[in-house]
Amino acid sequence: MKAVVIASGGVDSSTLLYKTVKEDYETYVLTFIYGQKHTREIESAKKICEGLNVHHKVIGLSVLKDLLSGSALTDSGVEVPEVPETAEHYETLKTTIVPNRNSIFLSIAIGYAVSIKANYIFFGAHHSDRGVYPDCRREFVEAFEHAERLANDNLLLVVAAPFVNMSKFEIVKLGVELGVPYKETWSCYKGGEIHCGVCSSCRERKRAFQEAAILDPTEYER
Ligand SMILES: [Zn+2]
Repeated sequence: MKAVVIASGGVDSSTLLYKTVKEDYETYVLTFIYGQKHTREIESAKKICEGLNVHHKVIGLSVLKDLLSGSALTDSGVEVPEVPETAEHYETLKTTIVPNRNSIFLSIAIGYAVSIKANYIFFGAHHSDRGVYPDCRREFVEAFEHAERLANDNLLLVVAAPFVNMSKFEIVKLGVELGVPYKETWSCYKGGEIHCGVCSSCRERKRAFQEAAILDPTEYER
């Protein structure tokens, strides 16, 4: 069985990669450059893929930056927000939405999958993303799978987010069992030498390790 996995170098998609390989899929990985302000995460994705010895392509889509403006992840005019430790940060997280990002990535991944005769396409959306990112919800994944089966006249296509009903701390627990080298993964929305510790993504990562009662191997600036 062949699978195409979208991986960003972060906690969720790296865990998904390990899970996919462990389940004996012949695994093909795509990582997208979509005009992020930093590409630190791309280096992490490369390392993770090298460690697993899987096929890996980095796809340049930096042109999207000019089309999909307004996100703190791509737009130099929008600061990556810092959030207090205890805050519910939905409002600040909203600035990190890149419009239609998962649909765009999945469309490309499915085109690639069809061309290499892979029937499985996986991405790392999880339950904790649900409140903020509409294209990380189960309803979206199911509808997209349906659309792509029609688009490719292939009822065997499986488009899935295996973690869609899992919280991030459960993913971390699973990843530790699978031996995911979390030290190599990158979550920070800023792009420094080490994780900033205060952007919403760093906060979420810290919280997930705390809730999982697992020591986070990440070095944080704050
Ligand atoms: Zn950060």
